[in-house]
Amino acid sequence: MRQIKYLIVGGGIAGTTASQSIRQNDTDGSIAIISNEPHYLYSRTLLSKPVFFLDKIPAENIFIKKEDWYIQNKIDILKSVSAVDLNTEKQIVRLSNNDEIQYEKLLIAIGSDPVNLNIEGCNLSGIFYVRTLDDIQKIKAVVKTAKSVICVGGGLVGFEMCDVLAKLKIPTSIIFREPYFFGNILDAKAGAILESGLIKNNIQIINNSQIQKFTGINAVAGVITSHNQNIQGDLIIVGIGSQPQFSFINSKILNINKGIVVNEYLETNIPNVWAAGDCAENYHPVLNEHTQLGNWSNSQIQGRVVGQNMVGKKQPMLYISAYITTGLGVNLAFLGSIKPSDSKREIVKISSNAYIKLIVDDQRVLGAVLINNPQNISMVLKAIENKHMLTEEEVKL
Ligand SMILES: Cc1cc2nc3c(=O)[nH]c(=O)nc-3n(C[C@H](O)[C@H](O)[C@H](O)COP(=O)(O)OP(=O)(O)OC[C@H]3O[C@@H](n4cnc5c(N)ncnc54)[C@H](O)[C@@H]3O)c2cc1C
Repeated sequence: MRQIKYLIVGGGIAGTTASQSIRQNDTDGSIAIISNEPHYLYSRTLLSKPVFFLDKIPAENIFIKKEDWYIQNKIDILKSVSAVDLNTEKQIVRLSNNDEIQYEKLLIAIGSDPVNLNIEGCNLSGIFYVRTLDDIQKIKAVVKTAKSVICVGGGLVGFEMCDVLAKLKIPTSIIFREPYFFGNILDAKAGAILESGLIKNNIQIINNSQIQKFTGINAVAGVITSHNQNIQGDLIIVGIGSQPQFSFINSKILNINKGIVVNEYLETNIPNVWAAGDCAENYHPVLNEHTQLGNWSNSQIQGRVVGQNMVGKKQPMLYISAYITTGLGVNLAFLGSIKPSDSKREIVKISSNAYIKLIVDDQRVLGAVLINNPQNISMVLKAIENKHMLTEEEVKL
């Protein structure tokens, strides 16, 4: 059986950055990455951005690492193969090709997969999810001939896909179950600012609605909503959330909540096993809570920190996350902890097209949502990092 000193499951930004950080600190130890995708590391964030989706840059610019980087750094990447079983006692991972690898130290960095809509008609062609380069390539191959598109879900995927579809001038509807856009995070006034971006771009908003079934014979022709509305669409893009796939892990042994529970050093409850990136639910000493995010820079920094810890250092993960995106003429930033809880309160400021929500406890700012208010991003991030409070006067709309 093959033996590897540092085995990494998942070749995304967390796993790849960890491999780089390990190599910087251990020049000889063997490193292998198991990746169920057929590609070297690419920018997942660019997939839904106009610059890539609308072919404004050469397609190969999506790749962050090329083959020679792995060779030069003596990092063995096994592509198009999955980890299917983990034996933490014998320290062995079994792969989908039946090979087994014994590890000294294991990192789980498997990201998170889209939640599927398993309802009538879900196997019709023309229904897509957005996570991988292959997903987006399939959408790009059909989008220009689509007569009308339906986006399902009022979150980031829906927001960014509506932005590119509006730029392509394809008639688009967006359906979500909340009363307003981003209804699981924002309030009605903030939702209205985002929705004004959708309306200006002629996107039809269908709120308070779920999809009952997809219609069509072989290919999708539309959806029937929970209010029995029949909406036409020959291309459907679903973005209703994501969830890591833990099927290869025995959850009775490894502590799993929504993500793999790790401490501030990204260590799991099992010796020699770490987790990082979107699949990890890490204790954050600055925010004093467990957080699990879907955030590129957070995953990258976790990769750097966990790589150092796997070679024997003891670095806590202290980074305050920032998810900043722009689309439909709206700038949107989620900073720090935006999880609601009884011990937190909110300070909200709003104008006709800008919005600030600070999430605070008695002493300090823990998180914030800023819409069309980029000038405050760095000040708010510093306040969260330094455990400071901000007054209403300090944050200007
Ligand atoms: C379309 C889109 C746009 C985004 N835009 C932004 C943005 O603007 N800003 C931002 O901060 N974040 C954005 N994100 C989120 C960001 O991309 C993620 O937070 C980040 O990629 C997570 O990195 P990761 O390494 O933890 O996981 P991933 O990038 O998901 O990598 C995990 C890898 O592990 C593989 N894997 C899973 N299970 C197994 C297994 N059993 N065996 C082998 N391999 C396995 C997966 O296929 C994947 O290749 C976006 C995400 C998407 C999908």
